[in-house]
Amino acid sequence: MDYDLFVIGGGSAGVRCARIAAGHGARVAIAEERFWGGTCVNVGCVPKKLLVQAGEYGAFADDAAGFGWIIKKGPHDWGKLIAAKDREIARLNGTYRRLLDNAGATIFDARATFIDAHTLDVGGKRVTAERIVIATGGNPTRLDIPGAELGIISDDAFYLPAMPKRVAILGSGYIAVEFAGIFAALGAHVDLVYRQPLPIRGFDPDLREALAEALTAQGVHLHPSVTPTRIEASGAGRVLHLSSGETIAADLVFFATGRRPATANLGLERAGVSTNEHGAVIVDDQLRTAQPHIYAMGDVTDRLNLTPVATAEGHALADTLFGKRARRISLENVPTAVFSTPPIATVGLTEEQAAARGPVDVYVEKFTPMRHTISGRARRTLMKLVVDQATQKVLGAHMLGEDAPEIMQGLAIAIVCGASKADFDRTIGIHPTAAEEFVTMRTRTRVAGVAQAAE
Ligand code: NDP
Repeated sequence: MDYDLFVIGGGSAGVRCARIAAGHGARVAIAEERFWGGTCVNVGCVPKKLLVQAGEYGAFADDAAGFGWIIKKGPHDWGKLIAAKDREIARLNGTYRRLLDNAGATIFDARATFIDAHTLDVGGKRVTAERIVIATGGNPTRLDIPGAELGIISDDAFYLPAMPKRVAILGSGYIAVEFAGIFAALGAHVDLVYRQPLPIRGFDPDLREALAEALTAQGVHLHPSVTPTRIEASGAGRVLHLSSGETIAADLVFFATGRRPATANLGLERAGVSTNEHGAVIVDDQLRTAQPHIYAMGDVTDRLNLTPVATAEGHALADTLFGKRARRISLENVPTAVFSTPPIATVGLTEEQAAARGPVDVYVEKFTPMRHTISGRARRTLMKLVVDQATQKVLGAHMLGEDAPEIMQGLAIAIVCGASKADFDRTIGIHPTAAEEFVTMRTRTRVAGVAQAAE
């Protein structure tokens, strides 16, 4: 065999796995056909957060007046922002490549496809490997409606030549609400069109409600409980037709309606690797596919599609196979954040999930953050703890508000360690912060779960 390990895909999962395996002394090769660092670095987490931050500066400039600053806010230069973002992404691409090079991995800037279970075609070259990792990620999808080709996907949003004045965003998942916040903060008229009564299905119901309020406060026009039916061109603009009969005129229609695992034309059938009905590679709890020497990780497996999960899996697999340190990643209590405006962060169970298991004590606090008592900006923070009534273990922590992702990372450690409400209560707060509310919630808001009726 040419290599001990061949990794297909140079994204978060693949790069980490290749780098660590090579560091353990394995003969490693990795192929990437598009861009090093994958979705997260190029058309995902990293550029998205830079755009979120661009929006924040505009709002800070408005806030400053309340604090005595006399600031004249000029227009926003989209071209300058995108150029600065592109420079940073190019730097990160180089860093990823260099990390692999320094670790001693062989790098192929090419597409790799299976010829058989141990043989790959890598840009026209035949390569064999003892073990193979599929880490090809996923791609954004459009809905199957007439005129879908007139809409853009998130990959395109990072390279728009100009800031659109009117944007209609379809969906209300992570990408939809994050971009609604970005475009609104940069001055666009934003319509958010989604089929649920509230955005971000799957998150805690209080967070979903608070997010709908926050989006409205930011000036985003919400269109809940409708589906798009077709898109038409109207000059340089677009007309979006909805199931309600309503139409929305926009410069840009943006599909944020989910992502699909990138498994098409990889030759998986020639390797005996099985996929599910959505095209995701099926893996066991050790990331093994139907072929025990072929593994898959990250978004291509469509389980928890988050970068830190993918990198953790890549690292764990490399340690297990070549580092004599067998370990698996737990997908329980994985913290996550939505970089909406303001952001959301969460760890553990939602109230609904916890209540389905048994009685829970629920603590909710809603307040105006200190900064905005003076800035005058309509902004509310929501914090919530869901506590198992029998054991008093904290099962879930949820927040919508400034710095929520930064705060939740620390809380996630406590929850992973199994902290109880009493542990939270005996922790001294840091004053004055929003975060201190998490250790000063003394009055139960309600009881949920099976005991609800009894109380
Ligand atoms: P999501 O799966 O989060 O959201 C998809 C949205 O599209 C939902 O609102 C969904 O509605 C809607 N939708 C799907 N099909 C249809 C349909 N046929 N008609 C109408 N609406 C439809 O996908 P995203 O594209 O936002 O993001 C993909 C994934 O990437 C996320 O789930 C997350 O794992 C990851 N990600 C993580 C980020 C982070 O960590 N901050 C940021 C961005 C992405 P419904 O809810 O009704 O199904």
